Amino acid sequence: MNAQAESPSPRAPQAETGVIGGSGFYSFLDDVVEITVETPYGEPSDSLFLGEIAGRRVAFLPRHGRKHHLPPHRINYRANLWALRSLGVRQVLGPCAVGGLRPEYGPGTLVVPDQLVDRTTSRVRTYYDGEPLPDGSVPNVVHVSFADPYCEAGRAAAVAAARGQGWEPVDGGAMVVIEGPRFSTRAESRWHAAQGWSVVGMTGHPEAVLARELGLCYTSMALVTDLDAGAETGEGVSHEEVLEVFSRNVGRLRRVLFDTVAGLPVERNCACARALDGVDPGIRLP
Ligand SMILES: [Zn+2]
Repeated sequence: MNAQAESPSPRAPQAETGVIGGSGFYSFLDDVVEITVETPYGEPSDSLFLGEIAGRRVAFLPRHGRKHHLPPHRINYRANLWALRSLGVRQVLGPCAVGGLRPEYGPGTLVVPDQLVDRTTSRVRTYYDGEPLPDGSVPNVVHVSFADPYCEAGRAAAVAAARGQGWEPVDGGAMVVIEGPRFSTRAESRWHAAQGWSVVGMTGHPEAVLARELGLCYTSMALVTDLDAGAETGEGVSHEEVLEVFSRNVGRLRRVLFDTVAGLPVERNCACARALDGVDPGIRLP
């Protein structure tokens, strides 16, 4: 640890759980407090919104900004995860919209993936790049384990919560993350499906790996809004279709999300919590 580094947030934790998702998830909560958080990496996508679910303090962060003005490749993923951790967050839930790569994963399917394939091209995907922080500390070279990119405890809580709401989820499968913002060609979609991957999204990476690099738990909850590239015969996916299906499902997704928050373990015993054991990051994590 660099002795020069100073924690930017010496205050008590303001939240223990983070949710990276839009206003549809927190607008129904009482007494939501909006706060702005600065990070060494610049501004997060938006303010953070603090609320309470089942006695848990939760920080919500609109991934694309509250006006949905940030396309997936322009999101400041490093600032987002850093901001959550600086509030005290240790467990993060990442609901997102995805395309289904199998005919049986039609619109309205909920997938809790257990694997991830990164096909993004332009994104900053690490905190440990040797670039000095504003406080003068320099991150060391750190190679985190990422064989299992998602938190097993978080996945179990999400699957149980969906079942509790009568929405049988797909438990497992791989999410391939593409650069976007365009959707896939039919050839790309066929190729992704042929690999055995389940769903395709645009934000799951580097969100998941940056969480791991900060020792945070990260759980993806992927709502299928379309059959990617129309599965051979359709018209291909449109943005309007994605928004329409998402808005139609946001109510039950919110209920599952809240039950997942309530079902997360209070004490972390998962591998994510030990991701940085024995590691000197060179910088002080918030
Ligand atoms: Zn975990």
